[in-house]
Amino acid sequence: TNINPVKINSKETAQKFLDSFDTYLFDCDGVLWLGKHLLPHVKETLEFLTKSGKQLIFVTNNSTKSRAAYCKKFASFGIEVTQDQIFSSAYASAVYVRDFLKLEPGKDKVWVCGEAGISDELSLMGFKSLGGTDPRLDERFDAEKSPFLTNGLDPSVRCVVAGLDTKINYHRLAISLQYLQQPQVHFVGTNIDPTFPQKGHIFPGAGSVIASLACCAGREPVYCGKPNKNMLDTIVSAKKLDVARCCMIGDRLNTDVRFGVDGGLGGTLLVLTGIETEDRALEQNSDHPRPKFYANKLGDIYELLGG
Ligand code: PLP
Ligand code: CA
Repeated sequence: TNINPVKINSKETAQKFLDSFDTYLFDCDGVLWLGKHLLPHVKETLEFLTKSGKQLIFVTNNSTKSRAAYCKKFASFGIEVTQDQIFSSAYASAVYVRDFLKLEPGKDKVWVCGEAGISDELSLMGFKSLGGTDPRLDERFDAEKSPFLTNGLDPSVRCVVAGLDTKINYHRLAISLQYLQQPQVHFVGTNIDPTFPQKGHIFPGAGSVIASLACCAGREPVYCGKPNKNMLDTIVSAKKLDVARCCMIGDRLNTDVRFGVDGGLGGTLLVLTGIETEDRALEQNSDHPRPKFYANKLGDIYELLGG
């Protein structure tokens, strides 16, 4: 749209932001914290919103950790969050496998090219996964020695789920490809993020790992994380949300704000503690959607209204 984003920098703008929504969906990295460092007044803002009767939901594209592991991360910052408030691209992928692909737990298996977050979420739903963090995949690939080839491919594998894997190697790509060459095996990607920031560096994200699989397999996956509708559908049906009264808060225009706009949420808030700058927030006629609100940081809500 061509309406200028409203900057939250006064009591009035902050109050308008508060009155417009019942549920806030928070991106995690770049909004709540940067890696291991909680951003200023985040805890106070979350407490203030809860006290104001708002529902809080956390939506991360990071597929490497399970929701249970995320709860522990929140707890390490002294923030109390329950697992049912957390949605990740790994969880959304597992929901997709179960509810959309309708694979049968206990019968159908999933080959994972990614970290523990994916296999943990699948396992909670009763799906056996193969690959993933199996240490035998750490070995240099040898077609004559790989147990995944010499024992034969597992005919129960019906889907490959791929996400960020910091131990990605040729062995993992090669075996994933064996399954992806079978046309009846589905291909799911956790998230499109080409990169992610950490400690002042930019590192390859899940999108880059998945793209290498898509390249050799000659086909594209269905992506389940932000900005894809699969993620929102998972949240809306679990939480019975009225999307018109929901606001997505994020630090990235092409995932978080795109997610909110495409999903028909009542609003979006871009915070400037992560990827984007004020110029980008205000930019017009570009290829990304514009947020309804923007703020220097999430903690400004507390500083303007609760402090
Ligand atoms: N993927 C990985 C591997 C990450 O480490 C991160 C952030 O640290 C992300 C994705 C983006 O996460 P979020 O959606 O919470 O910003
Ligand atoms: Ca983020």
